[in-house]
Amino acid sequence: MKIAIIGAGFGGMAAAYDLRRAGHEVEIFESAAQVGGLAAGFKEPHWDWSLEQYYHHWFATDRHVLGLIDELGWRDKVLFPRPYTVVYWAGKFYPFDSIFSNIPLFILRHFPLLDAVRYGLAGAYLRFTPWWKPLERVTAEAWTRRWFGERVYALQWQPLLQSKFGERYYQQVNMAWLWARLHVRTTRLGTFEGGFQAFAEMFAARLREMGVSIQLNTSISQIRQNPNGGLKLTTAQGEHVADQCLVTTSPALLAKLAPELPEEYLRGVLELKSMGAVVMVLSLTQQLSREGYYWFNLPKSAGFPFLALVEHTNFISAEHYGGDHLVYLGDYLEPEHEYFQLTHEELLQRFLPSLTRFNPDFRPNWVRKSWLFRTNYAQPVPLINHSQNIPDIRTPLPGLFFASMSQVYPWDRGTNFAVEIGRRAAKLMLTGRNTVE
Ligand SMILES: Cc1cc2nc3c(=O)[nH]c(=O)nc-3n(C[C@H](O)[C@H](O)[C@H](O)COP(=O)(O)OP(=O)(O)OC[C@H]3O[C@@H](n4cnc5c(N)ncnc54)[C@H](O)[C@@H]3O)c2cc1C
Repeated sequence: MKIAIIGAGFGGMAAAYDLRRAGHEVEIFESAAQVGGLAAGFKEPHWDWSLEQYYHHWFATDRHVLGLIDELGWRDKVLFPRPYTVVYWAGKFYPFDSIFSNIPLFILRHFPLLDAVRYGLAGAYLRFTPWWKPLERVTAEAWTRRWFGERVYALQWQPLLQSKFGERYYQQVNMAWLWARLHVRTTRLGTFEGGFQAFAEMFAARLREMGVSIQLNTSISQIRQNPNGGLKLTTAQGEHVADQCLVTTSPALLAKLAPELPEEYLRGVLELKSMGAVVMVLSLTQQLSREGYYWFNLPKSAGFPFLALVEHTNFISAEHYGGDHLVYLGDYLEPEHEYFQLTHEELLQRFLPSLTRFNPDFRPNWVRKSWLFRTNYAQPVPLINHSQNIPDIRTPLPGLFFASMSQVYPWDRGTNFAVEIGRRAAKLMLTGRNTVE
């Protein structure tokens, strides 16, 4: 079979790997100049490692992506440093070497005993119950307020929900989403030697060696049924015919690319909600968090102009970046938010004054360089009973398959689940069946 894959992110490349190993002719079309998708990185000439455009790490339980890396023989390149996460409470930052295991100790010290007991019980329930389905019938806000109590909700869950889903959706997201995060995530955070981009490039090189063709800078503008069978893909350079095609873009883009999809499927796809992300990266001449903290969760109520500050070089040594200290300032936002319209310089001016709250000595002349990354599609939003709204990987258009971040539910999106769904899609394409055991 001749198979086309749209997108050279982790999902598209994982699918290509299995399809090629099964003996098919595989061609990947990627609109960007490099592979890696949302996990792609960039590199300054004096850096040894690349830096992800959007902050990225793996969890020790990310078995799909780590399993793939094992298969490829590169496990020795996966590193698990020990960074510090920080929570903001009552005007101060509190460090945790692991937010989930140490928060109960914090609660024990600062909150009434009852809160710590409730935390232990509710936390253990979420960690161990495999039954997530009933949890999708209730919002995460209602569940956590009820079972963890108001104080813990205000300390931990409200800031998390607000930072991920904004004012519009944070009270509507279902509890299965939070269950999935607590159920499988570890506190250990990992990366690839050289950065995620190094892994993506090595994977692409392996795919090419195996005979997969990867066309960079090649955007697909339309997918239609071919009158002589299969599908016809349009690019600026011409047309390509394939027996099957896997699309790994956002749902909105799939709807645009394949207008022949039946109305009912399209309606389902277009009803899926998601948040965008705006992330600024600063290269500083000095370390920002003198205490060496990596990840600052910032509650909306604290009035920062961003909701996450991540000092990457407190996770991976600045040595790999020519001594530069790298800091992300990020937020998940709806695509209509003004941060999507403001210029790079305007955003920088909004962000910089708040950095003295992390280090009173900070001065704007510490900023050597900055970069701005924005994407409309960063975080799917799972509302009540979301499992009923997940589009099938096999679309009703013969030969057309769709595998995106919006379909990995109840798991939260991530490269681990991009690999999982890419490989699941490949299996479906190979077996011709509707489900994979
Ligand atoms: C702010 C942020 C933080 C994140 N943090 C983490 C993290 O810590 N750990 C983690 O594992 N994951 C994280 N993720 C999620 C992770 O990046 C994604 O889940 C994963 O990369 C999705 O892979 P994918 O292959 O499904 O899609 P994508 O990576 O989106 O790949 C789709 C590809 O399709 C291409 N494309 C789009 N349109 C066309 C077209 N018309 N023609 C051809 N090509 C096209 C795109 O350029 C892209 O390369 C984060 C994401 C964001 C935004």
